[in-house]
Amino acid sequence: MHTVEGCPMCSDISLEENKQSFLISEFDYSYVRFPKNQYYKGWVVVFLKRHANELYELSDEELVGYTKEVAHVAKTINEIYKPVKINYAVFGSLCPHVHYHIIPRFFEDDPHAPIKMDEKEKFLTDEGYKEAISRIRKVLV
Ligand SMILES: [Zn+2]
Repeated sequence: MHTVEGCPMCSDISLEENKQSFLISEFDYSYVRFPKNQYYKGWVVVFLKRHANELYELSDEELVGYTKEVAHVAKTINEIYKPVKINYAVFGSLCPHVHYHIIPRFFEDDPHAPIKMDEKEKFLTDEGYKEAISRIRKVLV
Protein backbone atom coordinates (compact mmCIF):
# COMPACT_ATOMS: atom_id res chain seq x y z
CA MET A 1 0.00 0.00 0.00
CA HIS A 2 1.25 3.48 -0.87
CA THR A 3 0.88 5.91 1.96
CA VAL A 4 2.05 9.46 2.21
CA GLU A 5 3.81 10.58 5.33
CA GLY A 6 1.87 13.29 7.07
CA CYS A 7 -1.48 12.37 5.48
CA PRO A 8 -3.91 11.91 8.38
CA MET A 9 -6.15 9.67 6.29
CA CYS A 10 -3.33 7.33 5.25
CA SER A 11 -2.50 6.91 8.91
CA ASP A 12 -5.95 5.98 10.19
CA ILE A 13 -8.44 4.90 7.49
CA SER A 14 -7.67 1.21 8.05
CA LEU A 15 -8.28 1.32 11.81
CA GLU A 16 -11.41 -0.28 13.31
CA GLU A 17 -12.12 3.09 14.91
CA ASN A 18 -10.53 6.48 14.47
CA LYS A 19 -11.50 9.92 15.71
CA GLN A 20 -14.19 10.45 13.05
CA SER A 21 -15.47 7.03 12.04
CA PHE A 22 -15.70 3.25 12.29
CA LEU A 23 -14.48 0.75 9.68
CA ILE A 24 -17.37 -1.06 7.99
CA SER A 25 -15.58 -3.04 5.33
CA GLU A 26 -12.52 -3.34 3.12
CA PHE A 27 -12.44 -3.97 -0.62
CA ASP A 28 -9.57 -4.29 -3.12
CA TYR A 29 -9.31 -0.54 -3.66
CA SER A 30 -11.13 1.00 -0.75
CA TYR A 31 -12.02 1.18 2.91
CA VAL A 32 -15.66 1.87 3.71
CA ARG A 33 -16.24 3.85 6.90
CA PHE A 34 -19.21 4.96 8.98
CA PRO A 35 -18.83 8.54 10.24
CA LYS A 36 -19.65 9.06 13.91
CA ASN A 37 -21.49 12.19 12.88
CA GLN A 38 -24.71 10.84 11.38
CA TYR A 39 -26.24 14.25 10.75
CA TYR A 40 -26.90 12.82 7.30
CA LYS A 41 -28.62 9.53 8.12
CA GLY A 42 -26.82 6.65 6.44
CA TRP A 43 -23.80 8.74 5.48
CA VAL A 44 -20.78 6.56 4.67
CA VAL A 45 -17.37 7.37 3.21
CA VAL A 46 -15.42 5.26 0.70
CA PHE A 47 -11.69 6.00 0.95
CA LEU A 48 -9.19 5.02 -1.71
CA LYS A 49 -6.74 2.66 0.04
CA ARG A 50 -3.63 4.22 -1.42
CA HIS A 51 -2.84 7.87 -1.32
CA ALA A 52 -3.81 9.98 -4.30
CA ASN A 53 -4.85 13.62 -4.32
CA GLU A 54 -6.91 13.53 -7.50
CA LEU A 55 -8.97 10.94 -9.40
CA TYR A 56 -6.89 11.54 -12.51
CA GLU A 57 -3.82 10.18 -10.71
CA LEU A 58 -5.38 6.69 -10.72
CA SER A 59 -4.64 4.12 -13.40
CA ASP A 60 -7.60 3.07 -15.54
CA GLU A 61 -7.77 -0.21 -13.63
CA GLU A 62 -7.79 1.57 -10.24
CA LEU A 63 -10.35 4.09 -11.41
CA VAL A 64 -12.72 1.40 -12.66
CA GLY A 65 -12.17 -0.82 -9.62
CA TYR A 66 -12.57 1.98 -7.11
CA THR A 67 -15.61 3.52 -8.82
CA LYS A 68 -17.31 0.10 -8.98
CA GLU A 69 -16.80 -0.24 -5.23
CA VAL A 70 -18.24 3.25 -4.67
CA ALA A 71 -21.30 2.31 -6.76
CA HIS A 72 -21.68 -0.98 -4.88
CA VAL A 73 -21.61 0.82 -1.53
CA ALA A 74 -24.15 3.37 -2.79
CA LYS A 75 -26.46 0.54 -3.91
CA THR A 76 -26.18 -1.05 -0.48
CA ILE A 77 -26.96 2.21 1.30
CA ASN A 78 -29.92 2.72 -1.04
CA GLU A 79 -31.28 -0.74 -0.19
CA ILE A 80 -31.00 -0.17 3.53
CA TYR A 81 -32.02 3.47 3.95
CA LYS A 82 -34.32 3.80 0.91
CA PRO A 83 -33.58 7.46 0.15
CA VAL A 84 -34.98 9.27 -2.88
CA LYS A 85 -31.46 9.97 -4.14
CA ILE A 86 -27.87 9.23 -3.29
CA ASN A 87 -25.49 12.20 -3.36
CA TYR A 88 -21.82 11.60 -4.15
CA ALA A 89 -19.45 14.20 -2.80
CA VAL A 90 -15.73 14.38 -3.50
CA PHE A 91 -14.20 17.47 -1.98
CA GLY A 92 -10.88 16.82 -0.28
CA SER A 93 -10.45 20.43 0.72
CA LEU A 94 -9.57 19.59 4.33
CA CYS A 95 -7.57 16.49 3.42
CA PRO A 96 -6.85 15.79 -0.24
CA HIS A 97 -6.70 11.96 0.05
CA VAL A 98 -9.30 10.71 -2.49
CA HIS A 99 -12.59 9.74 -0.83
CA TYR A 100 -16.26 9.70 -1.77
CA HIS A 101 -18.96 10.77 0.65
CA ILE A 102 -22.09 8.69 0.00
CA ILE A 103 -25.02 10.68 1.31
CA PRO A 104 -28.61 9.41 1.18
CA ARG A 105 -31.12 12.22 0.63
CA PHE A 106 -34.74 12.02 1.69
CA PHE A 107 -37.95 13.80 0.74
CA GLU A 108 -37.78 15.93 3.85
CA ASP A 109 -34.31 17.23 2.88
CA ASP A 110 -34.15 20.57 1.11
CA PRO A 111 -32.74 19.72 -2.34
CA HIS A 112 -31.31 23.23 -2.64
CA ALA A 113 -29.43 23.07 0.63
CA PRO A 114 -25.68 22.74 0.11
CA ILE A 115 -23.92 19.73 1.62
CA LYS A 116 -21.89 20.92 4.57
CA MET A 117 -20.15 18.10 6.40
CA ASP A 118 -19.66 19.97 9.63
CA GLU A 119 -22.90 21.97 9.64
CA LYS A 120 -24.43 19.94 12.45
CA GLU A 121 -23.52 16.98 14.59
CA LYS A 122 -25.68 14.02 15.44
CA PHE A 123 -24.08 11.19 17.33
CA LEU A 124 -25.58 7.74 17.95
CA THR A 125 -25.28 5.57 21.02
CA ASP A 126 -22.65 2.80 21.01
CA GLU A 127 -25.50 0.37 20.39
CA GLY A 128 -26.78 2.56 17.56
CA TYR A 129 -23.41 2.44 15.79
CA LYS A 130 -23.16 -1.34 16.23
CA GLU A 131 -26.64 -1.90 14.81
CA ALA A 132 -26.15 0.40 11.82
CA ILE A 133 -22.74 -1.05 10.95
CA SER A 134 -23.87 -4.67 11.25
CA ARG A 135 -26.92 -3.91 9.09
CA ILE A 136 -24.69 -2.46 6.39
CA ARG A 137 -22.17 -5.33 6.64
CA LYS A 138 -24.92 -7.91 6.07
CA VAL A 139 -25.88 -6.34 2.73
CA LEU A 140 -22.43 -5.12 1.69
CA VAL A 141 -20.84 -8.35 0.53
ZN1 LIG B 1 -3.37 9.77 2.21
